[in-house]
Amino acid sequence: MPELPEVETTRRGVAPHLEGRSVEAVIVRQPSLRWPVPEELGRALAGAHLNHVSRRAKYLLFRFDRGTLILHLGMSGHLRVIPAATPVRSHDHLDVVFEGDRCLRFNDPRRFGSVHWVTGEPEQHPLLAELGPEPLDGEFHGDHLFQTSRGRRVAVKVFIMNARIVVGVGNIYASEALFLAGIRPGRAAGRVTRAEYARLAEAIKTVLQKAIIAGGTTLRDFAQPDGAAGYFAQQLNVYDRAGEPCRVCATEIRHRVMGQRATYFCPACQK
Ligand SMILES: [Zn+2]
Repeated sequence: MPELPEVETTRRGVAPHLEGRSVEAVIVRQPSLRWPVPEELGRALAGAHLNHVSRRAKYLLFRFDRGTLILHLGMSGHLRVIPAATPVRSHDHLDVVFEGDRCLRFNDPRRFGSVHWVTGEPEQHPLLAELGPEPLDGEFHGDHLFQTSRGRRVAVKVFIMNARIVVGVGNIYASEALFLAGIRPGRAAGRVTRAEYARLAEAIKTVLQKAIIAGGTTLRDFAQPDGAAGYFAQQLNVYDRAGEPCRVCATEIRHRVMGQRATYFCPACQK
């Protein structure tokens, strides 16, 4: 499933090919995605000029002169920028063809992705309005986690995966960040100290940035007809390593299910 680093890498991969160009055609092959593709999309985008591609949480925001196309990759979505005549493969649901024969093609086998068109401020869209801060923003610090967690008994791992608290901390990154910060995933969020949250906020930034840097090596794949969805190989300390020795202290990594998600930790390094 594309996580925040994959979405950010997608943004960096497609933006330079499209920004500053106008739309020549929209081709919808499969309108039933997670939500129906807006019927007015073709009319809305015809001739529209793309100013900028940005990201909010796991949503890509294609900011045109007359509105914003919001796109979510869902569980299996992938974007490429290719010549419009490139043969269509199965699950190629949507093309947005820009001038200069730059076709933005959306492929999504499981169809949990979605496309939305908004003419107002995209941040006010119901999907985005309630989201917490971006973890890689300069303003995101441990104090935010400390203050919003007081009195909460939910496990700290479940807490940091809540997009209303902070966006983009997926299951793998939550386990890895808690390991780096030395915090047991099952502790009550309200009992984690200010100093521990300061370490945790830094650890979240570290694991996400490492994944984005790993994804940088795949940037050129976004402009190749056979480009495949990239999942960034980075060395994981605890995730999916149950029973294997901790890379720091050699204690066996443990596994627990928490909030229905697989959770991994070192019982010696994490308190
Ligand atoms: Zn350890």
